[in-house]
Amino acid sequence: MSLARLICTALLLLFAPALAAAEDPAPFVIAGETVAPGTRADFRIPVPEGSDGSTFIPVSVIHGAREGRVLAVVAGVHGFEFASILAAERLAERVDPARLFGTLVLVRVANIPGFEGRSPNVNPVDRKNLNRVFPGKADGTQTERIADLIAREVVARSDFLMDVHSGDGAEFLDPFIGVYGGPLATDFPLALKVAQGFGFPNIVRYAMQTQAQIDTGRSLNRQGVAMGKPTILVEIGQNGSREEAHVAAIVAGVENALAILGMSDAPVQAAPAPTRLFEGTTALAAGHAGVYHPVDARPRALKKGELVGIIRDYAGKEIERLLSPVDGHALYGITGPPVEPGDGVVTIALPTDGF
Ligand SMILES: [Zn+2]
Repeated sequence: MSLARLICTALLLLFAPALAAAEDPAPFVIAGETVAPGTRADFRIPVPEGSDGSTFIPVSVIHGAREGRVLAVVAGVHGFEFASILAAERLAERVDPARLFGTLVLVRVANIPGFEGRSPNVNPVDRKNLNRVFPGKADGTQTERIADLIAREVVARSDFLMDVHSGDGAEFLDPFIGVYGGPLATDFPLALKVAQGFGFPNIVRYAMQTQAQIDTGRSLNRQGVAMGKPTILVEIGQNGSREEAHVAAIVAGVENALAILGMSDAPVQAAPAPTRLFEGTTALAAGHAGVYHPVDARPRALKKGELVGIIRDYAGKEIERLLSPVDGHALYGITGPPVEPGDGVVTIALPTDGF
């Protein structure tokens, strides 16, 4: 063999594994399941039995035939937020593994007990809000065990996290995307690009400045931030609706995200620019239990000092007047009538001209 030939052969041997890998990615291993490239697997992550019983997390993994990022899309953290759950079901059918670059991990319903129990806000088994208990506990209550598995098996395996919500029971909501930024978040510019691809009217930046912001009542989103993942929160729908426009908007946004993240060969779709940008939010909390009467339970502009609603006791006597603490936009809130102390009757987004 000539020297030149020998060098050629050596080079081929060196680069052959890399070339092969580019064409034929390794199987994707998640939660003990192995998914071959170019295929989809539907399975359940078992949530082990505790003193409060076992449950499961239904997942579909679409593992592309070609290398790329891992996008985790989590639906149904709140089991009464149906548009997110229907969108996940539709995405599992629509995304073609043969054409995908990378891997789409779809959690179809994060909170099965909340879904099957038609329970707003909490898991009816332990009365905990899954979106406040991350990173969870392997030996905790059922909601904490669900959070632990989602954090370790799903968020940890992703390169980008998308948490999809649809307004909860007895709530109003203006569709928005929350984007995690600030010094403790990862790749805000990429997350913003993906957020803009949804074409929703409102974008909120949540600037993560302190560890306490990430840790206090940690949501799934903040778990993504804590694990160094670019993260967005998708919110569209309200009050247990299954409106087709909301389902379709989530599906279109996720498909556009696949294009923006280089995971699909479809062109990036031009989306309408947001009409409002916000730098964080502030919540107006109720001080009493009782019967809540909002002035106008719809998204709207609020002025500082403006009356948002009143709470009456069960004899009909007014016991609390709730006034907006700031100028801003009522992004979401409760329609009532039930209210408990600490409930955010309205979450007010704080306008900004740009990021
Ligand atoms: Zn929610």
